[in-house]
Amino acid sequence: MSATPLIVFTDPACAGHAPLPGHPECPERLRAALDGLAQLDELDVREAEAVSGECLARIHPAPYLDELAGVEQRIRSEQRSISLDGDTHVGPGSFDAIRRAAGGACQAARTALADRVATFAAVRPPGHHAEAARAMGFCVYNNIALAAADALHRPSVRRVAVCDFDVHHGNGTEAIFAGRDDVLFLSSHQHPLYPGTGDPMLGVAPNVVNVGLPPGSGSNQFRDAWLAELLPAIDRFQPDLVLVSAGFDAHWRDPLAQLELKDEDYFWLGHQLRDLARSHCNGALAASLEGGYDLQALTDSVLAFAEGITSAH
Ligand SMILES: [Zn+2]
Repeated sequence: MSATPLIVFTDPACAGHAPLPGHPECPERLRAALDGLAQLDELDVREAEAVSGECLARIHPAPYLDELAGVEQRIRSEQRSISLDGDTHVGPGSFDAIRRAAGGACQAARTALADRVATFAAVRPPGHHAEAARAMGFCVYNNIALAAADALHRPSVRRVAVCDFDVHHGNGTEAIFAGRDDVLFLSSHQHPLYPGTGDPMLGVAPNVVNVGLPPGSGSNQFRDAWLAELLPAIDRFQPDLVLVSAGFDAHWRDPLAQLELKDEDYFWLGHQLRDLARSHCNGALAASLEGGYDLQALTDSVLAFAEGITSAH
């Protein structure tokens, strides 16, 4: 049971991104995540506001932002959906959702730092596949990278750890931050799987730690990987803020991958990350929703993770 209220940033506009009927990254995901969070004992729900242009410019270069502005203009004039890549489509309503998803992740980070608490951005679309100048894998802006850059803009924040437990490798976040000494990027993911990056045998940069789990891996392999490699790396890094790319598609019910995690694994990892945030960051931990495509699994595992990051003991 939760002991401290979880501050959640969300907005109904995040359900307005619906460019393609039948797409797995569907509007119902927002309701499913919120249904899980609503079962917490204490919840403090706040509006996810649109990301600022100043914030966007810290990660995404002007030509990419100009290209997206052109796409948005075309959608407005033609009233139809447009594809940014094979998996990533935008239509009327999409850009309001995209801006609020990024803004909510940034607000979650700011509030976690200011109030020394755990926060959760219940937003969509996700962000971790988006590169600085490329939409990819349902993602347009890289929400968690924007949150990290926003936090690092504060003089009091020197180091940010970005922890990604989505079943897919966070290629965009890795590409944006590889080689930096103020960001540590850690990922557990199914390997091989889309997008094909994240091979642990390839040393990308000293600030990148990838663990690939073969299809069929379950709770034990997942927890062992975090205990042996990922959690100790966060501890050594001594971050001022723990950010989490919280994707729930490694759940056994998820249709897009073949890991076998259970609800309680998300509680367990949330609790571990909460402990590290309390040790190093005065409790500052901000999570942002990434994947998770079985609606029941999303409800249950978001709740379990939220209980983990807010638990008193
Ligand atoms: Zn995913």
